[in-house]
Amino acid sequence: MANQPIDAYAASLPPDKRESVYQSTKGTHEKRTKLLWDHFLDPNELRQTAGRIKQHVIENLDTLLPAAEAKLQANGVQVHWAPTAEDACAAVHGIMDARGATKLVKSKTMVSEEIELTPYLEKRGMEALETDLGEFIIQIDHDHPSHIVRPIIHKNRREIATSFEREGLGDYNDEPEVITRRARDFLRQKYLQADVGLTGGNFISAESGRLVLVTNEGNSRFCLAAPKVHIALVGIEKLVPRDRDLGLLLNLLGRSATAQQLTVYTEFITGPKSPTQPDGPEEMHVIFVDNGRTEVLASQCREILRCIRCGACLNVCPIYRQASGHAYRSVYPGPVGAVLSPLLAGKQFPELADLPKASSLCGACNEVCPVDIPIPDLLLRLRDKGKTEGAPKASIGVPPMGGWALMASQPTAWKAALAGGKVINHIPTKLIPFPPLQSWTSSRTLPEWRGGSFRKWMKNRPSK
Ligand code: SF4
Repeated sequence: MANQPIDAYAASLPPDKRESVYQSTKGTHEKRTKLLWDHFLDPNELRQTAGRIKQHVIENLDTLLPAAEAKLQANGVQVHWAPTAEDACAAVHGIMDARGATKLVKSKTMVSEEIELTPYLEKRGMEALETDLGEFIIQIDHDHPSHIVRPIIHKNRREIATSFEREGLGDYNDEPEVITRRARDFLRQKYLQADVGLTGGNFISAESGRLVLVTNEGNSRFCLAAPKVHIALVGIEKLVPRDRDLGLLLNLLGRSATAQQLTVYTEFITGPKSPTQPDGPEEMHVIFVDNGRTEVLASQCREILRCIRCGACLNVCPIYRQASGHAYRSVYPGPVGAVLSPLLAGKQFPELADLPKASSLCGACNEVCPVDIPIPDLLLRLRDKGKTEGAPKASIGVPPMGGWALMASQPTAWKAALAGGKVINHIPTKLIPFPPLQSWTSSRTLPEWRGGSFRKWMKNRPSK
């Protein structure tokens, strides 16, 4: 993963990659907006209601989690609690070990990325195979997802075809249908050979203990139904109080994530196989993962725990669109990641304290968030936390902006620049001694520098 500031990573991104991330996110955002306003009289009211439901959840986890546990157990599900990433990985390993299992198939789950489950299992001689097409491609390329919903947004089909050829999945062919069919043929065998299927969980109802999963490929259905054991890894914040809350949240999730009225596969899982439900796995386990969420709950940024991982804030973010996901140096990219990743990093917070600064605070992320998370406010709170805790200052950026950043962060230099700025009106721009700037100014003219102080202007502006 990238190990440089966001702006430097963005500057190093090949233009075709940046363009494809930009077009793809913009397209989804526009479809999402149209769909919401075509279908609902006031989507903003719905977002606020959904936000209140999820806020209620995070403020009542102390009662909702035990209620969910009791319902899950009554449904025949074994419940595990994992305070840390290590505990969560060990719980999966323990379940597999107890059954002599060595092969696991996974459907897409961000929590498993967060806890680094695959390397943990592989180190212990177990196979953990991704079955979501995007995640499968990430796995064979030893890469990292760059978007919450579309992990391979940074790849094109030629790169994918090359990877498939390298892995012996057929001769080079970059037709999406061929790529998909080859992946499907390969994965079908793996479902049948797997001992354990692992999924995430979009929601768990505290009222009924139902686990709700949404996918577009149907792979989670194979993961939870074909093997004898189903494990669901679920963050502790993924609850809803009542089944009926799901109606609103699922409607908003599908539209916000992929501009669909509802995701293609929406599964409600009540438990393992039973006399009244003869199909499905023999055992079902839910592992509730904390891994820093309790600390987030105690912080001033607890609202981020409302997140339902739709990715809409990534699609609309001007920074994400230019930088792509790997620039965020963590599992969760974009505006949600700029808040969540530093918080989940715990003692490593200073290493990611620059992420909240990589924002223009335009507010678009808040406007699209289906659970109305005030992301710009949270970014400001984290900037403040970074300052209070003495986190390293943000990089002054890639060279063309370095001088600007230096000047804008020094009041004396800023005032001097303002005072001397008028000189620029008398220098022909073609004499600017930097070739990259000359190529830009040769086709443009600079507006006249008026100078002056904003404060002075504010004070002297005519009153209405
Ligand atoms: S913060 Fe909001 S918009 Fe962003 S992924 Fe989470 S729910 Fe979606």
